[in-house]
Amino acid sequence: MANTPYPESYYAASANAAPARPALQDDVETDVCVIGAGYTGLSSALFLLENGFKVTVLEAAKVGFGASGRNGGQIVNSYSRDIDVIERSVGPKQAQLLGQMAFEGGRIIRERVAKYNIQCDLKDGGVFAAITDKQMGHLESQKRLWERFGHTQLELLDQRRIREVVACDQYVGGMLDMSGGHIHPLNLALGEAAAVESLGGTIYEQSPAVRIERSANPVVHTPQGKVRAKFIIVAGNAYIGNLVPELAAKSMPCGTQVITTEPLGDELAKRLLPQDYCVEDCNYLLDYYRLSADKRLIFGGGVVYGARDPANIEAIIRPKMLKAFPQLKDVKIDYAWTGNFLLTLSRLPQVGRLGDNIYYSQGCSGHGVTYTHLAGKVLAEALRGQAERFDAFADLPHYPFPGGQLLRTPFAALGAWYYGLRDKLGY
Ligand SMILES: Cc1cc2nc3c(=O)[nH]c(=O)nc-3n(C[C@H](O)[C@H](O)[C@H](O)COP(=O)(O)OP(=O)(O)OC[C@H]3O[C@@H](n4cnc5c(N)ncnc54)[C@H](O)[C@@H]3O)c2cc1C
Repeated sequence: MANTPYPESYYAASANAAPARPALQDDVETDVCVIGAGYTGLSSALFLLENGFKVTVLEAAKVGFGASGRNGGQIVNSYSRDIDVIERSVGPKQAQLLGQMAFEGGRIIRERVAKYNIQCDLKDGGVFAAITDKQMGHLESQKRLWERFGHTQLELLDQRRIREVVACDQYVGGMLDMSGGHIHPLNLALGEAAAVESLGGTIYEQSPAVRIERSANPVVHTPQGKVRAKFIIVAGNAYIGNLVPELAAKSMPCGTQVITTEPLGDELAKRLLPQDYCVEDCNYLLDYYRLSADKRLIFGGGVVYGARDPANIEAIIRPKMLKAFPQLKDVKIDYAWTGNFLLTLSRLPQVGRLGDNIYYSQGCSGHGVTYTHLAGKVLAEALRGQAERFDAFADLPHYPFPGGQLLRTPFAALGAWYYGLRDKLGY
């Protein structure tokens, strides 16, 4: 079987040493079979192991091969649609529960990093940058909303203050969230995988789940082995393909691209982002960026609906970077890569149970570093019989994309074009 390596990226090039994990070549029995070793799968595995379950993780490629090892590394609170939208869509009771959980994922990451001594360059502080007065007004209401749900580490930044945290002339203001921050995403995943193994969990790499035999004791088949389990957690997100056909119609893989400069040197890096906060702007098709530990600028943006890999990533993302930082015009790009996230129509996570024993969480729509860590905890709670928080997510309504599998990509691209135009016109 082909041995799928990591895609070339700054993260793969600066990954901490990790053991080569074998492919599954046997028939094994376990309590929980987790499909996918991204944050959702690893966080689920860790919480389950901490609660006494026997856990086997199957990973099609390598730990952190998907979005978890390729993302912008930004720890961003709440969900891809905020709690006010949830409130309007599902009512105050469910929104209350989801609102209380909206800041938990970041705390889980910090607990994991401390408890398992994970070396992933964790830094505190994330900035939402407003390009228009309307976006600034939205940040003001977002601060009030988040404070209503107990979040206190927020500061509004006026035009003068935002210049003190990011050397970009585009912004009229912003909001600093000190419980946001950034990490080396692949090293976080590798550290979590090591923690799973330290608690007795088993991870098989190069072991794609190719079929699930559904029954009271479901069996997950890989090309050379099988896992019989009491429960299955499906955590393959945008890379899962059609393994669980029921889930595919209500979500769509999308690509987003990241570039990384050559090291900028301490002086230039400090001029760009003096406090080393990460930044995302408030556009619908947003730009996001931060410094790496060795003082490169890691800059992401853009969305490719349907997850086709663009031919020249640097040609797409570099102009965005230069618009924000014209002072980088002579700086070389050392790495450029693409990764897939899973979009749902509501942009809220798709969570639920198939039959009695197959659980899933996916589709956090490009905003998942914190949510996926929370998801692992909520899934583990559900398997232990405490499903109130799981149900709050599972009850979120989801609808198929208009146009079905064939036309959903052009429809979504049209929608994004519309929102992109609104951003440009400042609506
Ligand atoms: C380029 C990029 C930048 C992003 N930036 C940010 C950011 O800065 N902040 C933020 O909050 N979010 C960001 N996101 C989103 C975030 O990375 C994801 O929401 C999150 O990592 C999803 O984690 P996951 O575990 O659900 O999925 P993934 O990390 O994609 O993991 C799924 C895993 O399952 C495996 N798999 C799939 N099918 C099978 C199978 N059949 N059998 C076995 N294994 C299988 C895959 O190989 C993969 O390793 C970004 C996403 C991308 C792509």
